[in-house]
Parts: sequence; C-alpha cells; structure tokens
Amino acid sequence: MTGWSSVLSEEKGRLRDSCRPRSCVNEMDCKELVEAITAYLDGTLPDADRRRFDTHLENCTYCTEYLEQMRKTIARLGTLDETTLSHDAREQLLVAFRDWRTG
Ligand SMILES: [Zn+2]
Repeated sequence: MTGWSSVLSEEKGRLRDSCRPRSCVNEMDCKELVEAITAYLDGTLPDADRRRFDTHLENCTYCTEYLEQMRKTIARLGTLDETTLSHDAREQLLVAFRDWRTG
C-alpha cells in the first residue's frame, strides 16, 4: 500500500519536473491561436503569447495555413483600402477645389 503511493507521488513529481509550466501549462490550442491571430498580426500580442503562438505554428499545418491566408487577406485589403482612400480623398479635394473655383 505505502509502496504504491510513494511510487505514484514520486512519479508525479518526476512528471512535474520534466513538464515545465512554460511548455506545458501555456500550450496554445488552435482556438486560442485563431483568437490571438489579429493581435499577432498587429504586433500587439505579448511576447509570451507570441512565443506560444510560434510554437503552435511549428506543430500545426492548419494554423500555418490559416495565418498565411489572414496575411494575404489583410495585405490585399490594406492595399485596397489605401488606394481607395487616397483616391477618394484626392477626388474629394478636386471636387471641392472645382466647386470653390466655379461657385
Ligand atoms: Zn493549430
């Protein structure tokens, strides 16, 4: 009886030693990664989470693919927004200028 419990507690202690909190408790799953992805891309994700994020990516092709798609989408939207904005702004300025001159 006492033998088993001491072996078990010994085993538990050994597991806890080999399983460090940083790599075990903080392991990120896919759901958490998806929730953190915008912060990651914004660069606002804390360093600790960013490391977990990168670690997860190394082991998960799904999330690697997802991140790649997000990057492409944001890059495309970003370019579109910029172009549209600057184009609109210029148009508005031109219109305003024309109105001011003729009116
Ligand atoms: Zn994943």
